[in-house]
Amino acid sequence: MMRYQDLSYWLSSVDEPLTPRPGLPGDTDADVVVVGAGYTGLWTAYYLAAADPTLRIVVLEKEIAGYGASGRNGGWCSALFPTSLPALARRHGRDRALAMQHAMHETVREVGRVVAAEGIDCDWRAGGTVVLARTEVQLGRARAAVAEAREHGLADADLVLLDAAEAAARCHAEGVRGGTYTPHCAAVHPAKLVRGLAAAVERRGVRLFERTPVTALRPGAAVTPAGVVRAPVVVRATEGFTPALPGQRRAVAPVYSLMVATEPLPEAAWAEIGLAERETFSDYRHVIVYGQRTADGRLAFGGRGAPYHYGSRVRPDFDREPRVFAALRRVLGELFPVLGPEVPVTHTWGGPLGVARDWAASVGLDRSTGLAWAGGYVGDGVGTSNLAGRSLADLIRGETTDLTTLPWVNHRSPKWEPEPLRWLAVNAGLRVMFSADEAELRTNRESRRAAAFNHLLGH
Ligand SMILES: Cc1cc2nc3c(=O)[nH]c(=O)nc-3n(C[C@H](O)[C@H](O)[C@H](O)COP(=O)(O)OP(=O)(O)OC[C@H]3O[C@@H](n4cnc5c(N)ncnc54)[C@H](O)[C@@H]3O)c2cc1C
Repeated sequence: MMRYQDLSYWLSSVDEPLTPRPGLPGDTDADVVVVGAGYTGLWTAYYLAAADPTLRIVVLEKEIAGYGASGRNGGWCSALFPTSLPALARRHGRDRALAMQHAMHETVREVGRVVAAEGIDCDWRAGGTVVLARTEVQLGRARAAVAEAREHGLADADLVLLDAAEAAARCHAEGVRGGTYTPHCAAVHPAKLVRGLAAAVERRGVRLFERTPVTALRPGAAVTPAGVVRAPVVVRATEGFTPALPGQRRAVAPVYSLMVATEPLPEAAWAEIGLAERETFSDYRHVIVYGQRTADGRLAFGGRGAPYHYGSRVRPDFDREPRVFAALRRVLGELFPVLGPEVPVTHTWGGPLGVARDWAASVGLDRSTGLAWAGGYVGDGVGTSNLAGRSLADLIRGETTDLTTLPWVNHRSPKWEPEPLRWLAVNAGLRVMFSADEAELRTNRESRRAAAFNHLLGH
């Protein structure tokens, strides 16, 4: 029997027993029915209820609020968007791309505002993000990132290059040569955020039914074994789980991200590591790694690299990939030798995120059918889902606002290929990134060895 507490360190450390709310009692009418109680579904319900308290809103969740990626992620509430600023500019022009990026900056502040206004105790700390460069190639990438940001209209206040001392002062990892810093990120306890949000929407009169799987979505209805919810607007907020819905198998590919958490570290270790402002941290390798200093003094650290599973399958045992956990532990040890040869990991977990065929997140409403959706955030959904919720609330209420004209609104990603092409494409992409990192590390090790050798020879 699955215990929800075992799904992540975060779900194991919320101050509540995670008892499921009652399920849907039977057929119901509503104005809006939302499928999925992660951040996307709950933010949508939150802003709809805030804008119009008379709306009858129902949220249906197959397990409990926060069961999906929202209860398991790295807790970076960042202004990152899966499509880069230059790529957005190429597709939509410089001004619209910049508007999107500014909306993301504003989103981090907005989440902080709601967290405070609703009294959601989720260890929120807006300490920004430091991305380290630990090789010459990574340093080149850091410089390029800052140059690109400038070229596209962002300022030093948005992203600044750090020299070795400045980067190490924020995050004293082994071999730091420099990096970048952005203030546009907060570290958050993701499960406390999603659970707090569920309570906040209920306070606003939203009806949230748990352990209520939706077996079909169609215009005007969400169908469950317990009954049908009829509503003119049906919102799909199921992200990595979407392929299990009839007719949605190729909408997004579920890709797994995995995490580990250490035991609470002693003050002496933190004095060495830094992260005094609980900056979220990463480095400029290809296969994304991400970490945060938790409010209770642990390192929570994650990365991609788990395989994509044939047929877009999502299963609880895919959350656990011993090879990836071992790699994460090894990388943590390399970054922070103060952790010792046996990095004290107490928790390991993972979960599916959603990737669209063109890696473009989107939010939209088809007015002819009343079907709405948001997702495809890849690894950037903590902040982006809030923007999605606000945008959907405006779209559903028929308002034209600054949000409804952003370039991701009503974007239609192509479908993924049928298998076996999908499997080949996703896994080949993951392998290419791994080999690139390994090659870089080899080059770096070799160039360090050559430098040491030269030094010995007195060069
Ligand atoms: C390990 C990991 C680390 C990550 N780290 C970060 C990070 O640091 N920063 C960041 O920005 N993003 C991160 N992400 C991504 C981020 O967590 C997600 O993009 C975000 O949580 C998506 O929210 P969501 O509500 O759209 O989806 P989810 O949280 O996955 O919610 C979908 C919900 O729908 C429910 N559901 C699915 N199918 C049905 C159905 N048929 N009927 C009823 N309910 C259904 C599920 O049970 C689930 O609760 C990470 C993801 C993972 C897995």
